[in-house]
Amino acid sequence: MSRTAFITHPDCLLHRVGSIHPESPDRITEILDQLTGSGLDGLLDMRDDVPQAAPEQLYRAHSPAYVDDLFEISPETGIRHLDPDTAMMPQTLRAALRAAGAGIHATELVLDGRIHNAFCAVRPPGHHAERLRAMGFCFFNNVAVAAHHALAVGGLERVSIIDFDVHHGNGTENIFIAEPRVQMLGFFQHPLYPYCGTKVVAPNILNSAFPAGTRGDKVRELLTHVWIPALERHAPQMIFISAGFDAHYEDEMASMGLVDADYAWITRELRQWADAHCGGRIVSMLEGGYSLPALGRSALAHIRALADI
Ligand SMILES: [Zn+2]
Repeated sequence: MSRTAFITHPDCLLHRVGSIHPESPDRITEILDQLTGSGLDGLLDMRDDVPQAAPEQLYRAHSPAYVDDLFEISPETGIRHLDPDTAMMPQTLRAALRAAGAGIHATELVLDGRIHNAFCAVRPPGHHAERLRAMGFCFFNNVAVAAHHALAVGGLERVSIIDFDVHHGNGTENIFIAEPRVQMLGFFQHPLYPYCGTKVVAPNILNSAFPAGTRGDKVRELLTHVWIPALERHAPQMIFISAGFDAHYEDEMASMGLVDADYAWITRELRQWADAHCGGRIVSMLEGGYSLPALGRSALAHIRALADI
C-alpha cells in the first residue's frame, strides 16, 4: 500500500450554487473518475471518512465570531449570498466542515507517521477565506486550519505553505501575516482576482506575481531560485500545499500557460525537498481548477508525483 493518502468525503459534493457556478461538485467527480479510470486509486491509501472540523479547530484560523456567524446564517432553504461569488445553500456548511476536517485528519495521519503525504480532494476551497470573512468561493481556509493544527496539536514550530493556485491566496496571507512560524510561498497571475498580493507585507510571506501568458518555465525557475532557497532558510518541519490547478493553459478562469507536466515537476521537486529535509511530510489540499479534464489530469499528475509512482 502506498504511503500517499487520497482523502475526500461525500459531503464535499453537496455544496452546489446554481447549475452554472464553476466551483461545482463535478470538479471532485472528475478527479475521482480519472483516478479510478487510471487505476491509480488501487495504489493509494483511499480514505473518504473524515470528521467535520470542530469550531475550536476553526477558531485558530478564523475569529470565533466569524465561525459562529456562519453557523447562524446557514440557510435552511434557498441560497444566501455572502459576496457576488460566494453563497451558502443548506448543505454548504456541512461540505465546508468536511473540507476543513479533511486537512486536519490528513495532518494527524502524516504527523503520526501512518502515511507519508496526502492529497485532499475537497471543496469548497479555502485560500481566499480570511480571518474575518468568506470570499472567492471560500468559507473556511482549509490549509490555514490544517497548518494551525500542526502547530497547536502536532507541536511543530515551523511550517511552510506553497500556494500554486493562479489566484493570490489573500486569505492565507491575511491569517498568517503576523505568524512567523508559518511561511507562505505563492505565485499568481496579476492583475487578476483578488487584485492584491503584490506588496511586501511581512518577511514570512513571499508572493510572486506573473503576467498573463506566463508559462511553466518561469514557475520552474521561481521554484528553483526562490522557493527552494526560502524553504532552506525557514526549515519547515512540514509542508502544506494550496493546490489549485487553474494556472493550466486550458483553464479559462485565468490566462497562464502551465501544463500537466509542470504540476508533476513542481510536485516532484517539493516532495524531494520534503523527503530530504522534513521527513517527507506534505499535506496538499485542492483549491481552484475549473477546466474539468485539465483539472483531473493535473491533479493526477500531482498525486502521482506525491506518491512517486
Ligand atoms: Zn484559483
